[in-house]
Amino acid sequence: MTIKKRPTVFIDRDGTINKDAGYINSLKNFEMYPFAPQAIKLLKDNGYLVVIITNQAGIARGIFTEDFLSQVHNKMRVILQKNGTDIDGIFYCPHYKGSKIPAYNIDCDCRKPKTKMIDDAIKLLPVDTSNMFMIGDKYTDIQMGINAKCKTIMVKTGYGEGEIANDYSKWKLKPGLITDNLLTAVLSILSGKI
Ligand SMILES: [Mg+2]
Repeated sequence: MTIKKRPTVFIDRDGTINKDAGYINSLKNFEMYPFAPQAIKLLKDNGYLVVIITNQAGIARGIFTEDFLSQVHNKMRVILQKNGTDIDGIFYCPHYKGSKIPAYNIDCDCRKPKTKMIDDAIKLLPVDTSNMFMIGDKYTDIQMGINAKCKTIMVKTGYGEGEIANDYSKWKLKPGLITDNLLTAVLSILSGKI
C-alpha cells in the first residue's frame, strides 16, 4: 500500500508559534500566540501535514534538558488538542558547537540554516516534496527553507519585523512572501498567494 503524500508546512517555533522569550526555561514562559491554534487547525483541516522545526541550543548550553523540552512540547500539544487540532511532528536541534556538554558539542547538520531536520521529516512522514512551505521569523528559517526547496514565508512576529527592517537588503536569499503573523501566512498559503 502506498501512503498518499501530503503538502507540508514546516513551522519555526519561537517567535512564530509562541512569543520569543529568549530561552524558554519554564513552562510559564511558553506563551502561544492567540492565533496559532487556529492557524494550525486551518492547515490540518485542509489536508496539510504540520511539522515544527526548531533550534534549541539551550539544551547544549545547559539551560534546560531534553526532558524539559518535551514538557514544553507537551504543553503546546495539549493547547492544540483543546482547540481540536494537533501537529504531525516536531524536529529539534539540541546542538551547539562549543557546548561544555560533550554529547551536544557537535558541528551538526541539523542546526538551521542547515536542512537535516527537514530531510529527516521527509524520511519519516508522507511529505509531498513538491509542495512544501517553511514559515519562520528569522532569516535562518528562510535560508533553510529555500535550501530544502520549500516556498518560504517570513512573519513579522518574534525577530521578523526587526530583521526585515535592518537586514533585508543584505540577504542573498529572499522570502517568497512576508506576512504579519502565522495566521496571515497560513491564509496566504490556502488562498494560493504563494
Ligand atoms: Mg524563531
